Amino acid sequence: MTGGAGFIGSHLCERLLAEGGDVVCVDNFLTSGLHNIEHLMQHPRFRFSYRDVCQGLEVDGPVDAVFHLASPASPTDYLRLPLETLRAGSAGTWNALDLAASKNARFLLTSTSESYGDPQIHPQTEDYWGNVNPVGPRSVYDEAKRFGEALTMAYRRSRDVDAKVVRIFNTFGPRMRPDDGRAIPTFVRQALEGKPLTVTGDGTQTRSLCYVDDMVGGLVQMMAGEHGGPVNLGTPHEVSMLHLAGWIIELTGSSSEIQLVPRPQDDPEKRRPDITMARELLGWEPKTTVERGLRETIVSLSSRLNQEASVGHG
Ligand code: NAD
Repeated sequence: MTGGAGFIGSHLCERLLAEGGDVVCVDNFLTSGLHNIEHLMQHPRFRFSYRDVCQGLEVDGPVDAVFHLASPASPTDYLRLPLETLRAGSAGTWNALDLAASKNARFLLTSTSESYGDPQIHPQTEDYWGNVNPVGPRSVYDEAKRFGEALTMAYRRSRDVDAKVVRIFNTFGPRMRPDDGRAIPTFVRQALEGKPLTVTGDGTQTRSLCYVDDMVGGLVQMMAGEHGGPVNLGTPHEVSMLHLAGWIIELTGSSSEIQLVPRPQDDPEKRRPDITMARELLGWEPKTTVERGLRETIVSLSSRLNQEASVGHG
């Protein structure tokens, strides 16, 4: 797996190990750290390889499946790392596909709802081609993923690789970084620190929020199936940013208030997956309620912030 030390990747490593698999996790900690996988390092079926996927991939022995997750994923990260993001999506995906082709392994690209850009249809179905600004700041991510999708399909057609694409919609859960800039960790951090929760625009823009355990289940099922996709994975249930902020204030028991701030450029108004394909092809749909997921996430972020505070004071 590439990007296995990241937020989703570390949960996927745990799931594959729990199912009896051997896992080789390739990561260069560009947007993560050892702390996400430290608890796995002594596991007899876990191997870690510190490596940039753009430099080529080598794995000793047979490989059944290549999950390709390596890429900066949060807007804060990809706007800060534009060239690294384009390279991970292009050269990185190419190398991961070459590895799959050379090992006769299955391949799964974790693409994104951002492939749809600022969508003009709602909810988004897989046959919608999207509304992407190819030269805007977010294009480094959107277009890299769209190129990765095209490359994956080309390997499927011309190299006979059992390669698949999923488009992941907003996913949340434990091990998100408190500073990754996404709405949930930002709101939780602000609520725990008693600061105002900064909601962008008028707060009516919505996101659909899928809990990471459900997402990981979808990735495993997609890899095991025959279909090449793309298949949307996410929660069809939408939450407005204003509602989410209020919810987090309530669950953290915070006395913080909500503050409206300007919206970033190209920030999509709404995104909601149509998951009919995932339901029909994989029998998959998210099971965890947003509230349960938020509770787990708050516990994890709060312990991370406490650790950071004690290191800061130590
Ligand atoms: P993350 O930033 O936590 O994880 C990405 C991992 O990739 C990190 O461990 C990072 O160090 C690694 N990485 C980046 N560039 C690399 C390189 N060149 N070589 C080796 N490792 C590299 O992000 P995440 O949220 O876990 O996302 C995982 C994947 O899922 C990404 O491909 C992302 O685009 C996709 N995705 C995530 C979401 C979401 O809501 N989290 C939504 C859509 C798509």
